[in-house]
Amino acid sequence: MHVTGGLVYGVDIDSVIIDLTEGMCRALNGRLCTNYDTEIFTTWGWEENPILAPHAFWFWETVFGTREFQLECEPVRGALQAVRALYLKGKVVLITARKQQHQGVTLEWLMRHNIPYDSLYFSHDKANLALDLGVDLFFDDAPHQARSLSSAGIPVVLFDYAYNRGLPPHSLITRVTSWEQAMREAENVS
Ligand SMILES: [Mg+2]
Repeated sequence: MHVTGGLVYGVDIDSVIIDLTEGMCRALNGRLCTNYDTEIFTTWGWEENPILAPHAFWFWETVFGTREFQLECEPVRGALQAVRALYLKGKVVLITARKQQHQGVTLEWLMRHNIPYDSLYFSHDKANLALDLGVDLFFDDAPHQARSLSSAGIPVVLFDYAYNRGLPPHSLITRVTSWEQAMREAENVS
């Protein structure tokens, strides 16, 4: 049950709900016998990072979509409680740029962790979809999505990662380092 007149929250999945960045780190360290932390992901695309580039195909084509990898990924700290709280306050629309072919593992992960949501979309064009859906506030980590969402007039709570720190400041983008901080931002939007 939703509160009548509640807001519409757009929520990304990877590295916002599912801790993909940590999962990528674990997979990479396992392959290379290294001890990198998540700061290694300095660029959005692996191809632009000389350390990651040789492993991009391996990870994105042979590891990322597997059930084994997906189910080992943990929730981002605080995400479960936060999404549940958003769901009680308004409408939760999950919008991910994952490929449609990953729908099965995505649904399984969401179900396993009891993530409540109203709808789930697989789309790269988050800004236009969010406008169509009347999203009031969007939670994401991708720099290009934050840029297009904010350009479309949608406020963005941006989860801080090394790969999005080059994004120029924007009045509609608020950088946060935790869901606790993100929820405080959500309180300010009405
Ligand atoms: Mg993401």
